[in-house]
Amino acid sequence: MESPDALLEFVNFPDGDYPLSAIKKFYAKYKIFHSLSIGEVGVYTRMYESRRVAFSFFSKDELSSLFPREEIRRWQEWAEYRPLFPGEVDFKGLESCWGLTVCEFRTFLNKCISNYIDLGFVNKFMPKENVQFELRPSHDIWKPTVAIFNEDDNNRYKTIDHYLVATQILPFLLRGDGEIFSRIRRCPVCKKYFIPKSLKKKFCSDKCRAAHHYAIEH
Ligand SMILES: [Zn+2]
Repeated sequence: MESPDALLEFVNFPDGDYPLSAIKKFYAKYKIFHSLSIGEVGVYTRMYESRRVAFSFFSKDELSSLFPREEIRRWQEWAEYRPLFPGEVDFKGLESCWGLTVCEFRTFLNKCISNYIDLGFVNKFMPKENVQFELRPSHDIWKPTVAIFNEDDNNRYKTIDHYLVATQILPFLLRGDGEIFSRIRRCPVCKKYFIPKSLKKKFCSDKCRAAHHYAIEH
């Protein structure tokens, strides 16, 4: 059976360590679309936080090598949000957003592990009138990029939580495969979330199993 790989990888981000490079890699790997404000050009540059703060994944210099100066200026004037670039002090806000969201999804999975699915959490991110989905072709036409965004007063922004619920949780529940969430385990040694092939398996890997037995014996 298919498994919610992006969700597991997301909750397994090491605590308090969310470097931009790792977040960028995560977005690229799962073809998550960041932004529609300059999305037509095909470069995914931003992650939004609900207070309309946009974290840019590119420095100002990188942006100006990608887009004509005029276009950047127009786009910054048009946007209501405050763009933050890597290196700015406030950019660390991205880490706290990311960390907070990781915590929320871990809480959801911890409940699943204790045999309870928090439907309220899932419903919070259900597609509503102002949440839209859009698929865009990527280099592999059978694996399109997923854009999920809120449309609010004509300003579009979206967040990673909508993506995770819509692509990693909802499809399983809709086709009656929600049971997969009851099979998720958390490795007692490295604290990673994983789905064991056999339910008897307690550790994520032989390495962690050996480390556990070594600790007991010494
Ligand atoms: Zn482990």
